[in-house]
Amino acid sequence: MFKRVVVWFRNDLRVHDHAPLFFAAEKAGELIPVYCFDPRNFKKVSLGIDKTGNHRAKFLIEAVDNLRSNLQSLGGDLVIIQGKPEEVLVSLAKKHDAEAIFFSEEVTAEEKEVELQLEQNAWKQGIKTSAYWQSSLYHIQDLPFPVNQTPEVFTQFRKECEKFAKVQAALPVPKKINLPKNMSDLGDLPKLSTFGLKEPDLSSRAVLVFKGGETDGIRRLQTYFWEQDLLKVYKETRNGLLGADYSSKFSAWLSLGCLSPRYIYEEVKRYEKERKKNQSTYWLIFELIWRDYFRFICKKHGNKVFLLGGIKNNVDKWSRNENHFWKWALGQTGIPFIDANMRELNETGFMSNRGRQNVASFLVNDLGIDWRWGAIYFESQLIDYDVCSNWGNWMYVAGVGNDPRENRYFNIMRQAQNYDRKGDYIRHWIPELADIPGFDIHQPFELPTSLLKTYKIALGSTYPHPLVKYKAWI
Ligand code: FAD
Repeated sequence: MFKRVVVWFRNDLRVHDHAPLFFAAEKAGELIPVYCFDPRNFKKVSLGIDKTGNHRAKFLIEAVDNLRSNLQSLGGDLVIIQGKPEEVLVSLAKKHDAEAIFFSEEVTAEEKEVELQLEQNAWKQGIKTSAYWQSSLYHIQDLPFPVNQTPEVFTQFRKECEKFAKVQAALPVPKKINLPKNMSDLGDLPKLSTFGLKEPDLSSRAVLVFKGGETDGIRRLQTYFWEQDLLKVYKETRNGLLGADYSSKFSAWLSLGCLSPRYIYEEVKRYEKERKKNQSTYWLIFELIWRDYFRFICKKHGNKVFLLGGIKNNVDKWSRNENHFWKWALGQTGIPFIDANMRELNETGFMSNRGRQNVASFLVNDLGIDWRWGAIYFESQLIDYDVCSNWGNWMYVAGVGNDPRENRYFNIMRQAQNYDRKGDYIRHWIPELADIPGFDIHQPFELPTSLLKTYKIALGSTYPHPLVKYKAWI
């Protein structure tokens, strides 16, 4: 038993199924829950890109705010600080006579380095540390293989987990949290301007208003599963592009840990009992296993997932044409299917899985650009940015990851035909082209000039020169 413990919240901004919080509440008389905004996460990275862009930062600030409310409703509170966690957390623990720091374990290099430094600094001050695994559906200890022997091929990973591992029950919310009485300055929630970021404009075209936090994550699950009863058709709709409900949109809340995958799993099982069990209900769990897979692959391969050669050590064949890269990033390639997806990402911080696969393939296969630039851009923009899912998927598409197939090329026009035959997605995101009927909207560069004039497409202004770009680049 401890008198007082610091609980450090990281990408686990919730009170349900939270191992460090749950065990600290069991083992300690008083808890000091803390969130630390690390300035290193708000710096500029390659190409002058913000490591955390404004959509993602906004979502994070909302999630921290909501965590504070949820802790308050349990009798506790959240201390909000800024600085390097490995330094400021240890100082805080020392200042308040905490005997230990509990936190959840991460997987990749930057986060592991912080953990290591924190453990060392705490040890020097006589403060204990306890790291808990909790980010995946299957607990690392329940894997049917040592993590360094995680199968490289997803299907093998999934089958072995499904056959030999069990998903542990989600931990309950602690009944009560006792905050030390002398905690006066709990710290203010930062604003976007604190990090030199601008408030993002709310896009009128956004298909869902994403608000960070456990409360909104749980509400989204309630809506998607129980009120709208959409889980039973998930497998048929999941490849959609337009609208709030073709897929769960849980990723945003999963990425910051506002939703626990085990909680989602239990709700799927309840749905199967109370409503319907079918391929769709299974498929949502199947997708959560993909998430686990990338996490364990990153744990297995360490820093390699950030290197040009990925885990395959392929040779450097990549272009670093910044002009082409920015045309892609800003949605100005002249290929409507690519540009519409990038516009959605830039305006909302979200893009469908189908969209991500296409724009990623276009960047690496058609433009031949260094796949890591794409991963860095997604890291900045995506509100659901998850280090393992993002870098793992990018490696996969770039052919330097775990895909047993050598080339995962997406034919953009064929994809557009299969997934946006009538062109509604393009009409939604590129209204300049809205008058072009049917599938023609996907290929304005092939229309005769007379038709282009008839439709008054804004070539060269907001939507520059599609004909030239497509032919010249491919
Ligand atoms: P649903 O279809 O409802 O799926 C349910 C959950 O399963 C998702 O929330 C997610 O947690 C998981 N999932 C589904 N597909 C995948 C997948 N391919 N890989 C890993 N987990 C998956 N997902 C992220 O969460 N964060 C990222 O940073 C991220 N970057 C990506 C980058 C690229 C290049 C690609 C191709 C995919 C990326 N994905 C990422 C995976 C996937 O696109 C998103 O998880 C999905 O689009 C989120 O929407 P959803 O929650 O509605 O998904």
